[in-house]
Amino acid sequence: MEKNCEKKINVTVWNEYRHERFEAAVGAIYPNGIHGLIKSFLDEDPALNVRLAALDDDQNGLPPEVLDATDVLIWWGHLAHHEVPDDLVERIRDRVYKGRMGLVVLHSGHHSKVFRSVVGTNGNLSWGRDQHEIVWNLLPAHPIAAGIPDHFDLFEELYCEPFYIPQPDELVFGSWFEDGFIFRSGLCYYRGAGKVFYFQPGHEYCRSFYNEYVQRIIKNGVKWAAPAEIGYTVPDSAPMVDYKLTDNF
Ligand code: ZN
Repeated sequence: MEKNCEKKINVTVWNEYRHERFEAAVGAIYPNGIHGLIKSFLDEDPALNVRLAALDDDQNGLPPEVLDATDVLIWWGHLAHHEVPDDLVERIRDRVYKGRMGLVVLHSGHHSKVFRSVVGTNGNLSWGRDQHEIVWNLLPAHPIAAGIPDHFDLFEELYCEPFYIPQPDELVFGSWFEDGFIFRSGLCYYRGAGKVFYFQPGHEYCRSFYNEYVQRIIKNGVKWAAPAEIGYTVPDSAPMVDYKLTDNF
């Protein structure tokens, strides 16, 4: 077996972690935080080495030594996007673009500085009351859709189109909501040498992170977004080429 196959994927689950601490109803659903619940099901996979980080931790939970040791960063934020320092956002974007870290953005993370900065638009969408959602599996051969049926049901906050994102490189899931709206709910981007997966479920007052298919999709998303084994050093600049490959002919 190649050494690379044995290497664990180091996952950092970053959470704003405010709703759970200051709103009793949310704390009752996620007593260890949304990030704690996500860690609990990721920990079932021996290929993953999972740590937690939160906005109010020292250096927002992501000092350089933590970020530099992260293969995949999961991001949940909502109320306090503006409190995330711009220099941290830049470091995250840089790490994704260089192919050193994958990014999985959940639910209201569509408006995070991190998501906007990495994919390149404002991430605006429309939203409404919590309601019945059907998540449709649009790309069943995609690695993130592994083990997922053709559709499954959730009770979720309405997120609906138009969703102002760049055209996804791969659209894996699409959702129907009982009030008649639709939404591109699971999508992939290649950015620089790295990968980004956005997945819509995960409103703090709903229970979607307990759903077996949501859990499987997040696990699949982490593995898909993990850095590829790139066979050369990705440059940190735009180097001038002052030689001819044909000299070697
Ligand atoms: Zn929400």
